[in-house]
Amino acid sequence: MEDRIQLLGLDAAALERFVTQDLGESRFRAKQIREWLNRGADIDGMTNLSAPLRARLKAVAVANPVRVLEGFKSKLDETEKLLYALEDGNLIEGVVMRYHHGDTLCVSTQVGCRMGCAFCASTLDGRVRDLTAGEILGQVAAANRHIRAQDPSRRIHNIVLMGSGEPLDNYDNVVRFLRLVNAEDGLNISLRNVSLSTCGLVPRMYDFANEGLPVTLSLSLHAPNDVIRRQIMPVANAYPYGEVLQACRNYVEKTGRRVIFEYALIRNLNSDVKHAEELARRLRGLQCHVNLIPLNDVKERHLEAPSRQAVEAFLKRLELKNISATVRREMGADIEGACGQLRRRVLADRDRPGKP
Ligand code: SAH
Repeated sequence: MEDRIQLLGLDAAALERFVTQDLGESRFRAKQIREWLNRGADIDGMTNLSAPLRARLKAVAVANPVRVLEGFKSKLDETEKLLYALEDGNLIEGVVMRYHHGDTLCVSTQVGCRMGCAFCASTLDGRVRDLTAGEILGQVAAANRHIRAQDPSRRIHNIVLMGSGEPLDNYDNVVRFLRLVNAEDGLNISLRNVSLSTCGLVPRMYDFANEGLPVTLSLSLHAPNDVIRRQIMPVANAYPYGEVLQACRNYVEKTGRRVIFEYALIRNLNSDVKHAEELARRLRGLQCHVNLIPLNDVKERHLEAPSRQAVEAFLKRLELKNISATVRREMGADIEGACGQLRRRVLADRDRPGKP
């Protein structure tokens, strides 16, 4: 792997140490470099540094280890899917969703994923590697630069860790990223505007509750009980349903923030009103909200969404039982918005004979 330093992954103290000790430059230079990093600039673009200094910097460091290769705009809404390249040639993807209150970016935390959920495209080829904190932050900086080029008033306001990978399976880098993105001299994004989605790695959920980070926790539940959950999520074999909910209760108690449950509705599996009844019973008394997601069909898996009427009936039943719930608005349906789909298609196209 690339061994140049990822400047974006350094906090204020580490960047200052690097600039003053390794480069022998003044602290003021560290401040200038930080300003460029926040704007997503590369080293060549740091025009208030001298050319020799830029050359020295380039020999040992990269500014942003993430580059936008291509953007794919939805014709249905203002969603844009981004394909990024990493320094080692790996590809990852992200989505920018434009809402009236600002732009939301979906970021990845690993190349691929090893959790094995049956409906998810990210996990089909397993985990390739973890992303560094600088690479997770790099997605935000690169996306900012990309959307600003379209409209200078735009910037990423909200972040969801819902791209490829399991954030709590790359715990240290993810926590470092959260502190970096929140830093006053960095992108200064409030952690109240950040959501982290996990498939439910229970011990790490307890650790995360103790970090003192006011991040919204989303839990990928997708079932009303363990029998069904184990059919689609291997992680359910390691951590039983009751323990996952207990870890969620702990998160609510520690952080004072409600937990969001994600529930992908899958035809003939978890989408009957009796499942809604059972789910409501399990969640009673928990400060939460349920996000219903009609499954994004993944053709490799032969799983599909239920009818629109079934989705409505499921929602109605939860509401009747006083569980706060919404159906997630489908965005970017035409641009392979679901996790891992774009990267897979690009990799498949690359491998096809006759392609460069
Ligand atoms: N590993 C984390 C975050 C990544 S996925 C997690 O499991 O939560 C973000 C969300 O998209 C998860 O809730 C995941 O279960 C869901 N998801 C993945 N593939 C999907 C599909 N084909 N249709 C609907 N939701 C899907």
